[in-house]
Amino acid sequence: MPHPARPRAVTARLMLPMIPGAGRVDDAAVLFAGRRILAAGPRRQVLGDFSGPVEDLGDAVLVPGLINAHVHLELSGLGGQSPRGAGFPAWAAWLAGRDLSPPPAAVLAAAVRRMAATGTAGVIDVGSRAGPAVVAALAAQGLSGLVCHEYIGFRRPPADLPPVLPPALEAAVRQAPGVRAAPSGHALYSTSPDSLRRAREACRRLCAPFCLHVAETAGEVALLATGTGELAALFRGRLVPKGYRPPGRTPVAEALSLGLLGPDALAVHAVWLSGADRRLLAETGTAVCLCPRSNRHIGVGTADAPALFAAGVPLCLGTDSLASNDDLDLWNEVRALLADHPDFPGQALLPALTTTPARLLGRDRELGLLAPGAVGGYAVIPPDLAARLA
Ligand SMILES: [Zn+2]
Repeated sequence: MPHPARPRAVTARLMLPMIPGAGRVDDAAVLFAGRRILAAGPRRQVLGDFSGPVEDLGDAVLVPGLINAHVHLELSGLGGQSPRGAGFPAWAAWLAGRDLSPPPAAVLAAAVRRMAATGTAGVIDVGSRAGPAVVAALAAQGLSGLVCHEYIGFRRPPADLPPVLPPALEAAVRQAPGVRAAPSGHALYSTSPDSLRRAREACRRLCAPFCLHVAETAGEVALLATGTGELAALFRGRLVPKGYRPPGRTPVAEALSLGLLGPDALAVHAVWLSGADRRLLAETGTAVCLCPRSNRHIGVGTADAPALFAAGVPLCLGTDSLASNDDLDLWNEVRALLADHPDFPGQALLPALTTTPARLLGRDRELGLLAPGAVGGYAVIPPDLAARLA
């Protein structure tokens, strides 16, 4: 969507404003300037005496700009190179052999531009090397969201930890209205419990969601349960300390015992869960970010999205990075999820792309809805998905 600041309008057959209690609007119009929504509703009411440019999108279904709840933009220079379906150890070994220095600004800009072109207006990004450049790339395209600085490793952080965020990242977000920063954890096997708790506490102070990769692989479950398995073989003595003592719990149970779950937490991947794990996530209100194409690309298995939905777990969708995906187009994530689970209730997918991540970001009056004052612009459901989602 172009975003000149001059007010413009689009009209379409149908609009789903994603406002609690508000229904669909037939013969709708959205009046906007840049990504800011000035008015949205029935065409006659919105356009009134508006005399600026109006584009008729015909049969389109208008929805709020989407939120990609898990991406690592700093890996955007690694597209099209990683092994497919070879399993997590092969993928991780491949990644470890790459040059992981921050990508050129032009690579980040192109990745963000392509996300924006497919309807994405907000992101929850995770990384540790290129935070300031990612913030700048998002701000340049008018995208909103959160850039997480990921804690990884078992080395004990200094007791008086602040600053919890790199000063350059703090400085970058001060220049970027709409983009915030917070710490995050990598995973229960790769980040010390102490660092995870500190990052979690810092997120609470910042009123930001705490993001953590949880139960992405069977190897993670084995490592936490018994200290064995493919991740133990790969990481022990490196990412995982030699003397690592497994907690003897599932990743979700361990996250709970560390105080990491809750309505302001986002468990990413959640492929290898038991029924008890799903109940714990639901009871604590913890959201799950599904990454179906990344899971397929790396070859870690398929998250049981229908069971998570049935358990009442709030769901989001994320592309993960170009190191484990073909593109950062969330509609392709929807297509992959529906291919994996043809019976998945379509009505659960739009909230996963809009209202649920907006609520997590603490910005549910600004993002994930089509209402005056929102700043996420609009997206159009691709024709092949419209009947299923709308
Ligand atoms: Zn990730």
